[in-house]
Amino acid sequence: MTEDPVCGMGIDKDKTRYHTDYKGKTYFFCSQHCQDLFQKDPESILKTRKYDSAEKSRKVVIVGAGQVGATFAFNLMISGLASKIVLVDINKELAAGQVLDLNHGLSFVPPCSVQSGDLTYCEDADIVVITAGANQKPGETRIDLVKRNAEIFKSLIPDMVKYNPRILLIVTNPVDVLTYVTLKLSNFPMNRVLGSGTVLDTARFRYQLGSHCGVDPRNVHAYILGEHGDSEVPIWSRVHIGGVLLEDYCPICGRGCTGEERDHLFKQVKNAAYEIINKKGATNFAISLALVRIVGSILRDENRILTVSTLLNDYYDIEDVCLSVPVLINRNGISKIIQIKMNEQEKLQFQNSAKELRRVIKDIGF
Ligand code: NAD
Repeated sequence: MTEDPVCGMGIDKDKTRYHTDYKGKTYFFCSQHCQDLFQKDPESILKTRKYDSAEKSRKVVIVGAGQVGATFAFNLMISGLASKIVLVDINKELAAGQVLDLNHGLSFVPPCSVQSGDLTYCEDADIVVITAGANQKPGETRIDLVKRNAEIFKSLIPDMVKYNPRILLIVTNPVDVLTYVTLKLSNFPMNRVLGSGTVLDTARFRYQLGSHCGVDPRNVHAYILGEHGDSEVPIWSRVHIGGVLLEDYCPICGRGCTGEERDHLFKQVKNAAYEIINKKGATNFAISLALVRIVGSILRDENRILTVSTLLNDYYDIEDVCLSVPVLINRNGISKIIQIKMNEQEKLQFQNSAKELRRVIKDIGF
């Protein structure tokens, strides 16, 4: 194993196709993206410290103070994870109103500064969480939002990266496409750009399985991978409950699950956002808790494995697309991409999910 000098990820130098000789030494990279960044300016890459292990400011900037941004700010404030929270919105009144309301709760939570601001506040930020943009209207898919939100990102991201925040966490939908767009527009190494991906879908899957089997969802280990959207893939072959594979757990549970029941259960996961949006207009609570989990894993250097959206290369023959797979997250951001075993059918579905997203990325000119 060696370390990619650009993104700091651990890589197997015998397996990666990307390497460059510089001043008598061979450097290995996880992707074409990192190799290109290195070749552009090797000296400054070699000089840069990948990340500061000391927790300093714990400053989190949230861009987009709507349903998701504000609920996340509220949960983050309660969690005590951040020392400084800044809310930025094109609608300045909205951001100011949210901040006023949040500040009135400060005597009930761990110490924290909460303020509104603009993109200049991204300077020194540990993490910028981007929830800015249009959300789904009843009947719309996440992909339907792509043109509108990609346009917003085309001006937002270059304005933001001038201030060199450490890590960008994308939430705006379609999250996988916009994670890729952000990577390209920012020119950041891949460890510093991630999408919330299927962390929420995975939590929904665990909840559904847990309620079906009568087990606390925290004891259910199950992943939804691929797109955060209609082509997402449940990895049934790897589901286990308390260390027991699902098929072996079935007699313990005693309900006798058929394929039809599994399909029904997964449909509830896949269609959850549509159902919630039909009923209340937006989803905000569970996604906010998922974001606290991701942000906490970075700020506390947790080495937690979460299904975030990240740039994939050479992953089941998938190249140059952002999708969710299990990823080790710590203060470096993305630290290791984990190759999970899938059966043939899951692999095919996962590859189709990647193809679908590649097509959308191409359609919008990236
Ligand atoms: P919302 O409409 O309530 O909030 C969006 C906010 O973005 C608005 O306040 C708007 O003024 C602001 N905004 C728009 N352009 C901006 C810009 N250029 N700079 C700063 N602010 C800007 O929407 P919401 O319900 O909070 O959803 C936000 C996004 O998050 C949507 O794209 C939605 O689909 C997505 N979402 C993702 C997940 C996930 O799991 N990834 C879950 C829920 C929602």
